Amino acid sequence: MRLSLALQHQSSALVANYRHLEHRAATATGAAIKADAYGLGVKDVAKLLLDAGCRDFFVSTWWEAAELDFLPPGTLAVLHGFGPDDGVHPGVRPVLVTPQQVARWKASAFAAEPCDVMVDTGMNRLGLGTKDLGCLEGLSVHTLHSHLACADDDDALNRMQLERFLAVRQVVRAGRYSLANSAGIYLGSEFAFDLVRPGLALYGGIPRAEARGEIRQVTTPTARILQMRDVPAGESVGYNATFVAPRDMRVAVINIGYADGYRRAFSSIGSARANDQRLPVIGRVSMDLVTLDATEAPYLREGDWLELDFNLEQASAQTGISQYELLTGLGRRFKRSWI
Ligand SMILES: *Cc1c(COP(=O)(O)O)cnc(C)c1O
Repeated sequence: MRLSLALQHQSSALVANYRHLEHRAATATGAAIKADAYGLGVKDVAKLLLDAGCRDFFVSTWWEAAELDFLPPGTLAVLHGFGPDDGVHPGVRPVLVTPQQVARWKASAFAAEPCDVMVDTGMNRLGLGTKDLGCLEGLSVHTLHSHLACADDDDALNRMQLERFLAVRQVVRAGRYSLANSAGIYLGSEFAFDLVRPGLALYGGIPRAEARGEIRQVTTPTARILQMRDVPAGESVGYNATFVAPRDMRVAVINIGYADGYRRAFSSIGSARANDQRLPVIGRVSMDLVTLDATEAPYLREGDWLELDFNLEQASAQTGISQYELLTGLGRRFKRSWI
């Protein structure tokens, strides 16, 4: 079997991003590793961050927790909490998100075990309302969380959520309090509390302008050339003939497409690199193929590897696809490797 599609992850960049966020937050720094660590590969990410000193990991489901049995007890929590069909893994805490879940936990065999709780302070997504807090009486709350809706914007809701969270802290006893995601870390030290929970920025996303120049790109998709072809002036390239060669061109056809998460929105917008030379995507991105203008790189041959440009902030601005979707959409056909 020929390897022809790879994600090159840079472990030094992941660790450097972790260190930067930890320094910036100046408090315990966890990691959101749900959705296969945002598409990068959860086991490797968890091991690298564990080695870097991270002791708080967050997945969404118990199913995701099941493959992380190498994490030390007490270092993993499940953000979707304790649902009717959930089995609990020893040493893993649920983040209880509704009064029903709190009641279910209290009635379970685990009632005396530590748990986390999510309180909604204005996002109106997941979490106990501030009126529901009475149900927490008698519970041993390890970490009390809330989650910011607009930390990537300068929105009045940030401060409102902070104030509501401070009020909740006055009435609910917990071992620790935690509010900030990646973007929240840049809102200032008042938002840091006892623990921050970055995801996106660990993986190279730029959640706010303050992160520019600090956060490093972690992953780069690479694909091999399947064919080099000459396209005469006036001929079109790809589906729907959206690109017509303005001159005689050399075109590289590479082995990646929207089925791999290299989205159709990159048509005529994206680019790849060969030795720092930029090769623009021409025409439509197909399911498994992309065509590049390689006229200026005559040395390229079938089988050569090319790096796709995948700076998340830039790619998001170009395509209108969020940095989160660009990462989590990366497909199953890549060989993921760390360098
Ligand atoms: C996903 C998630 C995070 C991480 O958010 P980023 O914006 O990726 O940093 C933090 N907290 C909770 C509750 C989450 O669901």
